[in-house]
Amino acid sequence: MKSWDLLIGGKWLSLKETFEVTNPATGDVIGSVPNGGKSEARQAVDAAYESLPSWQAKTALERSELLLKWHQLINEEAAEIAKLMTIEQGKPLKEALGEVNYANSFISWYAEEGKRIYGETIPASFPNKRILVQKQPVGVVAAITPWNFPAAMITRKIAPALAAGCTAVIKPAEQTPLTALYLAKLAVRAGIPDGVINVVTGNPKEIGSTWMSDERVRKITFTGSTEIGKLLMRQAADTVKKVSLELGGHAPFIVMNDADLNLAVEGVVASKFRNAGQTCVCANRIYVHEDIMNPFLAKFIEKVRDLSVGDGLKEGVEIGPLIDEDAITKVQDQIRDAKEKGASVLVGGDLISGLFYQPTVLAGVTDEMVCMNEETFGPLAPVATFSKVEEVIKRANNSRFGLAAYLYTQNLSHAIKMSEALEYGIVGVNDGLPAVAQAPFGGFKESGLGREGGHHGIEEFLETKYISLGI
Ligand code: ADP
Repeated sequence: MKSWDLLIGGKWLSLKETFEVTNPATGDVIGSVPNGGKSEARQAVDAAYESLPSWQAKTALERSELLLKWHQLINEEAAEIAKLMTIEQGKPLKEALGEVNYANSFISWYAEEGKRIYGETIPASFPNKRILVQKQPVGVVAAITPWNFPAAMITRKIAPALAAGCTAVIKPAEQTPLTALYLAKLAVRAGIPDGVINVVTGNPKEIGSTWMSDERVRKITFTGSTEIGKLLMRQAADTVKKVSLELGGHAPFIVMNDADLNLAVEGVVASKFRNAGQTCVCANRIYVHEDIMNPFLAKFIEKVRDLSVGDGLKEGVEIGPLIDEDAITKVQDQIRDAKEKGASVLVGGDLISGLFYQPTVLAGVTDEMVCMNEETFGPLAPVATFSKVEEVIKRANNSRFGLAAYLYTQNLSHAIKMSEALEYGIVGVNDGLPAVAQAPFGGFKESGLGREGGHHGIEEFLETKYISLGI
């Protein structure tokens, strides 16, 4: 078992107090990391704050070259990073490799985008004045990330932050700190200067509150639960930090009677069962038009039955373990509740062993069931029926969440009108996997604030400065 260090100001630090990281597939302890707290959190901000002027002073091109070097090292070690990710998070190796590449695509994309942080000139009101608008980095950024995408949730924040000229303090999830530390190691090797990236593992509450009360931290960017997102937003109020939040989702997946059924089934399997259902954009409730319910279910069930569950390191495995016992309990509770209220289990429905749960399809589902209202974060696919467009839009929008929604139809009018009517930040039309580096990812309502990805994503790390110039 390897013990890892945390990174502050370019120095790797060990602490007496550590915590263990386990493999959810086997329960084995795979590493230990320092259990940092207030003191390390403050030192990390000291380092990030100190390195800020020199990082800002670099040209966009110089920052871009360092980011591209980091990108290259991640590429070279992609297989190793993926393996570590599978061991600490559980996702199948192929998916882990997919995530490393996805994570890395943010670094290369923002290495380029950083060169395009353009200002403006605006016609003035008086002949002896000029109006200039500049974009400047917000300053020190705090990033707090979840366990379900141990690499991508970090690069999606850190790449635009660094490209914009900000420095960062990062707290990865306690379940998956190793991937984060590995990425940080490569950042150091790439020559990203000391203090520009700092990673503190440890007590979430202490680290979080230290950063949130520090006025030098000008921005919090967070992905995780709605509950913690709200807490951070409240904490950010005292020092009026900029806030970006990617929170929970409860994605509706609508299949119209004019959909290409094979495409729809392929899309729903990809969207629902990726990472064993543990993503915030996973299809959470599936609405199928009553005319096509039977053929849809027949095809869906066949695909779900074929999914191979097991240790993600094993060849051919498509679904790994859930992250912990609480995740299993949540899925079990939702299935029990649905059954009690009249749903029937068509596939799965049981624990296999350890943290492995059978991919499950429920039919006869109604809107009162818990799984139709609360995020599942597990391999459970509840299927409900609908008959009218207005009805399904209303049911789909009847949620406090608004992250991703999916719509399968071959009818152009439905595709446009329905995607416009859905109160969601991301709509996949005939697309179960819409997330890419160049597109804005984020939610409406309680699913969050701000966007990650695309030119929108870098704006989150920039301040607008108006210079009124008398001449
Ligand atoms: P999940 O339920 O998916 O683990 P959380 O919102 O609890 O989602 O976790 C997301 C991230 O937020 C993790 O890095 C976690 O350590 C961190 N976190 C949890 N509690 C707090 C807190 N009180 N303050 C700051 N960060 C926190």
